[in-house]
Amino acid sequence: MNTKKPSWPIKLIISSSLVLTGTAVVPFTLSSTGIDTNRVEAASTYTTTANLNLRKSASTSGTILMTIPSGKAVTYLGTHGSWYKISYSGKTGYVSSQYVKVSSTMTTSSTKTYTTTVNLNLRKSASATGTILMTIPSGRNVTYLGTYGSWYKVSYGGQTGYVSSQYLKATTTTTATKTYSTTVNLNLRKSASSTGTILLTIPAGRTVTYLGTYGSWYKVSYGGQTGYVSSQYLKATTTTTNTSTGSGRTIVIDAGHGGNDPGAVYGSVQEKVLTLDIANRLASSLSGTYNYNVKMTRSTDTYLTLANRVSLTKTYKGSAFVSIHANSSTNTSFHGHEVLVPTTESYTTNPYISASRSLGTAINRELGARIPTIRNRGVKYQNVYVVGKNSVPSTIVEYGFITNANDRSHLTSTTYRQRMAEATASGIHQFMRSNY
Ligand SMILES: [Zn+2]
Repeated sequence: MNTKKPSWPIKLIISSSLVLTGTAVVPFTLSSTGIDTNRVEAASTYTTTANLNLRKSASTSGTILMTIPSGKAVTYLGTHGSWYKISYSGKTGYVSSQYVKVSSTMTTSSTKTYTTTVNLNLRKSASATGTILMTIPSGRNVTYLGTYGSWYKVSYGGQTGYVSSQYLKATTTTTATKTYSTTVNLNLRKSASSTGTILLTIPAGRTVTYLGTYGSWYKVSYGGQTGYVSSQYLKATTTTTNTSTGSGRTIVIDAGHGGNDPGAVYGSVQEKVLTLDIANRLASSLSGTYNYNVKMTRSTDTYLTLANRVSLTKTYKGSAFVSIHANSSTNTSFHGHEVLVPTTESYTTNPYISASRSLGTAINRELGARIPTIRNRGVKYQNVYVVGKNSVPSTIVEYGFITNANDRSHLTSTTYRQRMAEATASGIHQFMRSNY
């Protein structure tokens, strides 16, 4: 938690006579002289943008307790209509929400932390022979700075170095995603400028996820798209849901094939066995690490039709559907992992095309980062039944070719299947966190 004053000076042009009314629409201009670079956990601090009356009740006729000077940090306690309950200098009361701004030191989803799963050497270079700077105890949180092959650059205890990514898991709690709601129908633009291409118009009253500040523009995501909106038409959302856990949401995991359908076969290796194992590991990670409800379309070696798998998603009231597969080819040189997402062709009846692509992209990104020893074939648009005919964000993950020696050595390794499952869980969670 950063208790420093915001580092970006906010210049506010406002008529002070309007401050006392609390309800007038005030034309104002914000200009920030720098980009917000502070990234801390918790965003309950606001800054006053004008000399602001603190009142005993949430009304312009409420008794004035004091006048808070402009530019002061106040602690947010709750929302009552257009008023915020706050505390400042030992007093608690109500202020008009339009004259406070979220402090620049807010949480963003760009801060990623991982937790060490063993006592882990922090090294000077991304190599097992790199000089050991220190040993980080198991169970500690480290800040992610970048990926270098199978190594992550991290900082811990004031030191920066490299650790083997396989001994890290995504941190489950602490950071909450900051969200805003739109106060007007608001254009989402490709760039942080009023001349930027309009990607879509977000209706008033919708919740968007904050990703960063660019002058008077916020980078946000909404409905699977990322772009820029003018920050003056956003207000901090009033709900305080803990978006870092999946409580209440159900993820449907579909282990491909089963029963008399073995899927791809190479020697004694059967796709249906691998998919059930990865699905089980994925289910454990999603429920254990991220607190989602998980439903499996099958948990034993049984046969299910594709239609069964889709209808089970409905029955289970899933928020997302992920089908687990391994690939095969008569050409043993074909290799790599990929995700399959719906096309826009008429075959697709799934209303969540864009969200399915976001889900697939998030999973693919995590697999690529965590298992760099398998080629990343990327995100493929394909008409496949379980994603095209489903009615929730859906993707198929093909973890590699069992017909390729390198891929097969990963698929038949419990260590790598565990890593595949954890990468998938992390991707699902990133998708869920930014879209729901
Ligand atoms: Zn398959």
